[in-house]
Amino acid sequence: AVVVSAEDVWKSYDDETIQVLNGVDFEARAGQTVALCGPSGCGKSTLLHLLGGLDHPTRGRVTVNGKPVGDGQGSLHLLRHEVGFVFQLHNLIADLTLEENCLIPTVAAGTSRSVALERLRQLTERTGLTHRLKHRIQKLSGGERQRTALCRALMNRPRILLADEPTGSLDERTSRQIFDLLLELVATEGITLIMATHDHGLAQKCDRLVEMRDGRICESSLT
Ligand code: ADP
Ligand code: ADP
Repeated sequence: AVVVSAEDVWKSYDDETIQVLNGVDFEARAGQTVALCGPSGCGKSTLLHLLGGLDHPTRGRVTVNGKPVGDGQGSLHLLRHEVGFVFQLHNLIADLTLEENCLIPTVAAGTSRSVALERLRQLTERTGLTHRLKHRIQKLSGGERQRTALCRALMNRPRILLADEPTGSLDERTSRQIFDLLLELVATEGITLIMATHDHGLAQKCDRLVEMRDGRICESSLT
């Protein structure tokens, strides 16, 4: 089944003077891992933001689990439960602890504290962060921060994970390790992964590779 789709999606800024996406058609199936590749500025982040409802297309339609994204509160509620995000610069709050950071999205989703803590225990065990639960983010290494961001993104058990250069700030060895961990987690939980990357080594490990150029998809292939 198709879980995420973009149909003839266009995006421009500043009254159409900046054209970023020029008619993108894209879909991802349940449990698939998809790498979005292409040069810097080709529109990968913009497409991810639209797929996750963080921004609106200028034209065209985005659906998540068959429902159109962008029609108000119902849509936000859906997205909060269905979609998780991981960013290049983890976007964690530096002077809060790992536990506090990871609980934030569960509060917004209305999950009870005990259920949230149990989920966090499970995720930190799988990512090797159990001993870091009560540590502030500023005390963690780059790799630990990215693993924390991964835990946070998975707290609400999303079916879809959108990742924007999720290991882009790390050295190559750490980047490989964390990406393997990410793939293992999404496989275990049957999550659909859509990841923007310019690292073809990482892209090759995904089921599908989608190449973008100048705001268009120019090639899509199985790896
Ligand atoms: P990528 O992720 O492939 O590097 P982006 O989606 O981040 O590409 O950016 C695509 C283009 O859109 C870039 O030229 C960027 O400068 C432009 N852009 C992104 N966001 C905005 C914005 N809010 N206002 C104006 N231009 C933007
Ligand atoms: P903007 O803030 O760009 O002017 P709107 O005013 O149209 O966007 O957004 C209205 C509300 O919908 C805001 O609370 C915003 O956070 C939220 N929202 C923005 N994009 C989406 C989307 N794609 N799907 C669902 N809700 C969205």
